[in-house]
Amino acid sequence: MAIQQQLIQWAGAVTLVAAASSSATAWAEDAHSYARLDDVSTPHLELNLTVDFAEQQLEGTATYDLLRRSDATAIHLDTRDLTIQKTEIWQDGAWQETPFALGEPHQTLGQELTVTIGEDADKLRIHYETAPTASGLQWLTPAQTAGKEHPFMFSQSQPIHARSWIPIQDTPALRLTYNAQVYTPAGLLAVMSADNSLSDDRDGNYSFTMPQPIPPYLIAIAVGDLEIKSISDNVAVFAESYIIDDAAWEWADTPAMITATEKMYGPYRWDRYDLLVLPPSFPFGGMENPRLSFITPTVVSGDRSLINLIAHELAHSWSGNLVTNASWRDLWLNEGFTSYVENRIMEALFGERRAQMELALGYQDLLADMERLPAADTVLNIDLGTRHPDDVFSNVPYVKGQLFLVYLEHKFGRDVFDAFLRQYFADFAFQSISTAQFKHYLAKNLLAKHPNVVSMDKVNEWIHEPGLPADAPKPESDAFAQVERQMQRWLKGGQLQTAEWTTHEWLHFINNLPLDISSTNMKRLDNDYHLTASSNAEIAHAWLKLAITKKYEPARDRLRNYLLNIGRNKLVSPLYRELAKTPENLKWAREVYEQAKSGYHPLTQTVNEALLYPEH
Ligand SMILES: [Zn+2]
Repeated sequence: MAIQQQLIQWAGAVTLVAAASSSATAWAEDAHSYARLDDVSTPHLELNLTVDFAEQQLEGTATYDLLRRSDATAIHLDTRDLTIQKTEIWQDGAWQETPFALGEPHQTLGQELTVTIGEDADKLRIHYETAPTASGLQWLTPAQTAGKEHPFMFSQSQPIHARSWIPIQDTPALRLTYNAQVYTPAGLLAVMSADNSLSDDRDGNYSFTMPQPIPPYLIAIAVGDLEIKSISDNVAVFAESYIIDDAAWEWADTPAMITATEKMYGPYRWDRYDLLVLPPSFPFGGMENPRLSFITPTVVSGDRSLINLIAHELAHSWSGNLVTNASWRDLWLNEGFTSYVENRIMEALFGERRAQMELALGYQDLLADMERLPAADTVLNIDLGTRHPDDVFSNVPYVKGQLFLVYLEHKFGRDVFDAFLRQYFADFAFQSISTAQFKHYLAKNLLAKHPNVVSMDKVNEWIHEPGLPADAPKPESDAFAQVERQMQRWLKGGQLQTAEWTTHEWLHFINNLPLDISSTNMKRLDNDYHLTASSNAEIAHAWLKLAITKKYEPARDRLRNYLLNIGRNKLVSPLYRELAKTPENLKWAREVYEQAKSGYHPLTQTVNEALLYPEH
């Protein structure tokens, strides 16, 4: 009882704590959805979709089981740019048409779809089609793929784009299972975040089942000229043929990563874990779609140096997919925990030195973001209002969240903290929780059990205050300290010893070169180490960014090429941001962008147009 009272004071939000055991709390919190889950929710979805490459649209039906929680006679769903043809309810043993209404379009939220469901219908069917401009789908012409012969289509539903290809209660507070029937042109393969078959049959008619309940943003689909290569009994790569062997080699450690994570945090609960290589326009590094992570080809570097991205997506099988943020304000519960688990996987497989380098690189990125962002956006439990979560994407939920957990690990000791996390994943498996619920759980299961180690005031400072607490961990790396010593010698005309360097040392070296580096030294570096020509997308990115700042013209053609051929937002957007700083570069960047645009994902387009055309 005493703990209970303390909790209420600590949390500040009395009602949230009082209702922490009822998930209704989380539902009321999501400002990014029209759904009213406490009236009626949709625990199961049946999709029946035809993939039309000529029209660049999906067409078909979404059928929901209805779970009624009140006497409401209407259901509210989220849509964006969907054409709703007809809505029906299952009543008296037959489908019967029922009225629906679409609300006014909202720039961030899309359109509310309200459907009359009467008093006792237990199924709802919606006939609809998507728009070619659906924000959650990208349609690539054959020319925009590596193979050049077949088109490619893929979804990116996180955070609030599922509603652009399925009329849905698009809040992560909902969990639903799904089945799907998908029709494609013969010869192409459809895959989903579900039980993908390893058969090489390409008849254009595919069935899927996702038996574990997931939030809507994890529903995913891709269709393309895909091949399959197994890495182990329960891990395979799906990819276009040009990259499938390289990707399978690059990610050969994935089965060992699964074993290592299970040892630390409990069983992998999703059966298979497969990896899909997307076209270069994929806007993210990876997307943790359950059972089938979507991965950018830019991490197939040929030296396995960027496999921490696979560790990250795999880690989401515990943090994020198993225990999910209830709203986008709570994203740090997904990404902070995942960044922490990712680094622990890297340490387990490749040792402390490499894990520490990656932590230090993340910390540098976080500090750069914190300098750029308004203070309010450096808070973990961020106040988004109805701003689009894509617009406030940064390293804060990732790395600040990770540092918070590193801090707790240091304070309580690794054994205690690992046991706590393992139990946390088990206790909230297949649930969506809010920051308030997490704080409640933390207070009861860690802070109270080990008193006087970390106060709730300190926890609140981490979660609700901007910036970093004064006693936050400041990750450093011995390997990087050595790089810095070498850099000092090199700047005075000495030689670099780079034989042992991995991607991480190179990134640290390039990112920390003095901004007044001479053009002679830029040339010397490029001549000796061929950085302009680097085939490693991360090293090339760091170098090209410096080349823009330093007006290093020999890199200009490569920069154009890079921007035309890669659409991963993390790699292109900092380059456009740097280019936008001078009028001549901005003019040049707009020309390149107009040429590159059709190959970019809608999300990459939105973010970079804001940089290049801020007046729009
Ligand atoms: Zn993530």
